Amino acid sequence: MSAPMLSFVSVPQAQPDKRTADARLKDFDEIYVDFARSEAERQASRCSQCGVPFCSVHCPLGNNIPDWLMLTAEGRLEEAYAVSSATNTFPEICGRICPQDRLCEGNCVIEKGFESVTIGAVERFVTDTAFEQGWVKPALPVRELGTSVGVVGAGPAGLAAAERLRAAGHTVHVYDRHDRVGGLLIYGIPGFKLEKHIVARRQKLLEEQGVVFHLNQAIGAGSGEVSLGQLRERHDAVLIATGVYKSRDIGGPGSGLAGIVPALDYLTASNRRSLGDALPEGELDAADKDVVVIGGGDTAMDCVRTAVRQGARSVKCLYRRDRANMPGSVREVKNAEEEGVEFVWLAAPEAFLGDDTVTGVRAQRMRLGLPDGTGRQSIEPEPDGLFTVKADMVIKALGFDPEPLPEQWDAEDLEVSRWGTLKVDRERFETSLPGVFAAGDIVRGASLVVWAIRDGRDAATQIHKWIKERALAPLAAE
Ligand code: FAD
Ligand code: SF4
Ligand code: SF4
Repeated sequence: MSAPMLSFVSVPQAQPDKRTADARLKDFDEIYVDFARSEAERQASRCSQCGVPFCSVHCPLGNNIPDWLMLTAEGRLEEAYAVSSATNTFPEICGRICPQDRLCEGNCVIEKGFESVTIGAVERFVTDTAFEQGWVKPALPVRELGTSVGVVGAGPAGLAAAERLRAAGHTVHVYDRHDRVGGLLIYGIPGFKLEKHIVARRQKLLEEQGVVFHLNQAIGAGSGEVSLGQLRERHDAVLIATGVYKSRDIGGPGSGLAGIVPALDYLTASNRRSLGDALPEGELDAADKDVVVIGGGDTAMDCVRTAVRQGARSVKCLYRRDRANMPGSVREVKNAEEEGVEFVWLAAPEAFLGDDTVTGVRAQRMRLGLPDGTGRQSIEPEPDGLFTVKADMVIKALGFDPEPLPEQWDAEDLEVSRWGTLKVDRERFETSLPGVFAAGDIVRGASLVVWAIRDGRDAATQIHKWIKERALAPLAAE
């Protein structure tokens, strides 16, 4: 069957349907409904099959997008899945939560004049169909190599590496301090962006592949923790994929008041509730509260949208720049506004009010000034611009830094950059310790799931190479 491609001139762009805001507020389920097959095929057929596909160039995984769009348009979904999964370990996850407007779709050439191909939604549709049809199989090794790799961290970087390493024939042990697999996919990102059974489905496949998980097992130098030295003795190589978890804090008068909480504590508690864990009643719960979230990134968007679902009385997001200059995705701001969140742009918190517990935020109205050295507009306070916002819960969503690993792990030889991220050889992913590799946010700083997957896959290739070279070294010496 020949593909009816280039239909972007006649077929308008369509995203999958969204549930109504009222329905969304009642649960933590995903807000987008999967494409019907006919619509996925129609949307895929809009692609103009570019000779130099800028969509692929700007996908961190270099996905072969035009090929799987054409296969989808032709109704050859099993082949489309084979092509898309050749470069992406978790395409159904990326299809849901990649900021496509900044990556593949934002660089689709038909974006200029026509709207881009809805690449993410098609990727999700193809992979969800592959799961339904039983086409997704564990990548079993062809032969066992008798070597083993220890992976610290069961987030997307660690899992992507584990999948590749196991497929190559290594025994793979993944250690995580949490009780569930997934890292920020399970405890950071809310269910309305990524339902948790999607992550559990991948865990099951990894287990079927033979990956061994050691949950509730922190690596470190504390009691009950396994040390990095022990891991190096147990395994031929070790991969550190521990992410970044130190919340950036905010100072100022009243910043120590009760009711001011870090974003990740708040989101983790909400995700745990959705997963059925029993938490003390009311703890980190926004129900019946006036909530103020501080920050303008995607974590802030996840917090405001969680708070409206928990039944907060009011939810306001305070950000010191304006809508055009915020780091969060435009799509998420729109979703949040539909759900009743109020954005207070150009507002910087100056003090937190209250005796023991927070009762309000005093904020300074800002205005945009001249661009700084980076070209970004600076901000300056508006004269007489102080105002107060009522709040009995304040959520700080100001970003994350790495935890001080060399200190926490009693591993002074593990070199870090001036930002505290692990230093690695950019090509080999190896840290300053021989046979110890690192990937994901702990190397890049807070980034994206798709980059964590890319790094995990590349690190696995390098670890495999390193182990093979070492195995051959004694033979060469004979
Ligand atoms: P993580 O996912 O952080 O996983 C690290 C794992 O290591 C964790 O399971 C942790 O428990 C474990 N660990 C840490 N220290 C130890 C230790 N000492 N011993 C044992 N285990 C340890 N990206 C997107 O692309 N799209 C989004 O929509 C998006 N939304 C986000 C929302 C929030 C709230 C946050 C915080 C981030 C979001 N991100 C998003 C970013 C994305 O989640 C991260 O870039 C990605 O998860 C990084 O993967 P990782 O594997 O490096 O680390
Ligand atoms: Fe786009 Fe992300 Fe899929 Fe790449 S992985 S094609 S960036 S949605
Ligand atoms: Fe198709 Fe757009 Fe990619 Fe071109 S840039 S190949 S039109 S998806």
